[in-house]
Amino acid sequence: MNLHEYQGKEILAQFGVGIQRGIVAETPQAAVEAAEKLTEETGTGWHVIKAQVHAGGRGKGGGVKLAKSLEEVQSISDTILGMQLVTPQTPPEGKTVHQVLIAEDVYYPGASEPSEFYVSVLLNRATGKNMIMYSTEGGMDIETVAEETPHLIFTEEIDPGLGLLPFQARKVAFNLGLSGQAFKQMTKFITALYKAYVGSDASLFEINPVLKTSDDKIIAVDAKVVLDDNALYRHPDYEAMRDLREENPVEVEAKAVGLSYVDLDGNVGCMVNGAGLAMATMDLIKQAGGDPANFLDVGGTADAARVETAFRLILQDPKVKAILVNIFGGIVRCDRVAQGIVDAYKNMGDAINVPIIVRLQGTNAEQAKELIDASGLNVQSAIEFKEAADKVQAAL
Ligand code: GDP
Ligand code: MN
Repeated sequence: MNLHEYQGKEILAQFGVGIQRGIVAETPQAAVEAAEKLTEETGTGWHVIKAQVHAGGRGKGGGVKLAKSLEEVQSISDTILGMQLVTPQTPPEGKTVHQVLIAEDVYYPGASEPSEFYVSVLLNRATGKNMIMYSTEGGMDIETVAEETPHLIFTEEIDPGLGLLPFQARKVAFNLGLSGQAFKQMTKFITALYKAYVGSDASLFEINPVLKTSDDKIIAVDAKVVLDDNALYRHPDYEAMRDLREENPVEVEAKAVGLSYVDLDGNVGCMVNGAGLAMATMDLIKQAGGDPANFLDVGGTADAARVETAFRLILQDPKVKAILVNIFGGIVRCDRVAQGIVDAYKNMGDAINVPIIVRLQGTNAEQAKELIDASGLNVQSAIEFKEAADKVQAAL
């Protein structure tokens, strides 16, 4: 699950990580009130108005702006709220901004220049260990840094049994070129950040930039946080942070009825039982020259109601030109599934406007094939996997 910047910063603060403080607002009026409150709490006169969408690169797209007065807080919030923000990380049509974060200005002048770093914590799947990835090149697109100056990106792997050791936090601060108070603060920052990552069961904390202020404080100016969905049951308060407006509506609908659905770019709709078979089915479609439109695991009980729900979900995607149903009848008998498909098809009538290829294998597969062939519906049956994929290709 992805979080908004303001939510990520809330978690960071709970774990004692220094942050650029802010208050979220949904109207220009609330934005002005937030700015006034922040001025009381922090003494800041200037504020940054930051669009809250699940995408980075907001600064470049006009979604992060400095306001030097309350009038500017009002007018900038008015412009950003409701806008379609287009950044390199959004779809081409952009994302609608429903909320802005009003944050204290932290790039104030002082004894030294403020400087920006990049720090993230994530799992290195190759070694099975968490790692801290960091760079002096903060505030920039990290992919560009990785491509053009990879030697400026460092990593520090953490032993799962030992956790982050104090010398490792110091090493990060040292490699970032810090000394004195800033060095101490960075050590604290890294230690708390790692606690936040582990404590919230996250799969990513990316802080870009981490700022060294002109008075040597170390704070998170941005926060991209991804939480592990499988661990959310341990954090009901984080589950409440889910913003359904940011999620694919079909995926949300599927989740509500207990189907696991992932939207993809191709044109072959897939209805499969079991995640492993679903993956294999997508591979086979690709191998036959096609392109899957979705991943859909209907689970163990492929009855008529469930099959119908699944058809309706798949057909919401206008890209779908054919549907491949690939069900292995182990516990559930193939003829029962076939009957479910025929019933669902009859129920839905004109709603099914693309060819359907059904491959049923397992218990009573032959009877299932006969049932489908005798139904007189626009459904083709197959028993072999390859045969099914080829029929899909021919139907496109
Ligand atoms: P992103 O563009 O989506 O990654 O959003 P960020 O939160 O990283 O903000 C983008 C940029 O806005 C930062 O790299 C900073 O240069 C700038 N910025 C953020 N906060 C402040 C601030 O308090 N004052 C000023 N002057 N600039 C800021
Ligand atoms: Mn950023």
